[in-house]
Amino acid sequence: MEPSNTTVCIICRKEVSGTLVKDDVVIETIRKIKKKLGMAKNNKLVVCQGCLEEWSSKRKKYEKTLTQNIVIGIGIVVLLIGLPLILAGKLMLEQVIPGSGLGLIIILSTVMWHVPDIEQRPGEKTVTKPKKIKT
Ligand SMILES: [Zn+2]
Repeated sequence: MEPSNTTVCIICRKEVSGTLVKDDVVIETIRKIKKKLGMAKNNKLVVCQGCLEEWSSKRKKYEKTLTQNIVIGIGIVVLLIGLPLILAGKLMLEQVIPGSGLGLIIILSTVMWHVPDIEQRPGEKTVTKPKKIKT
């Protein structure tokens, strides 16, 4: 599919121009999944001028939640795997699997609320032309 020149704001979902969203692991993964499902629209994602403030607060919240959930996720894994290891002196497989599964789910659930970073944060120089995406 030809990449379209349509830019869509990730906050208001309107076809507007704005600051380009940075491609990261999550966005690339979602794009790959959508491509496989034939759902890819190949729109470029942006944050429009009017939504920058909302994006900024959402992004901050997301970064905080992500950090928290990673800490909680790792904490659960350490607790479920490490504690029996220390107490019983052996690794209990029946705790390792649900433990790491639970930790993974907590970290992955954050990705559902993914708020991508943008090329230029508000306050920095305003974007005049979008960068070309490396191939
Ligand atoms: Zn917008």
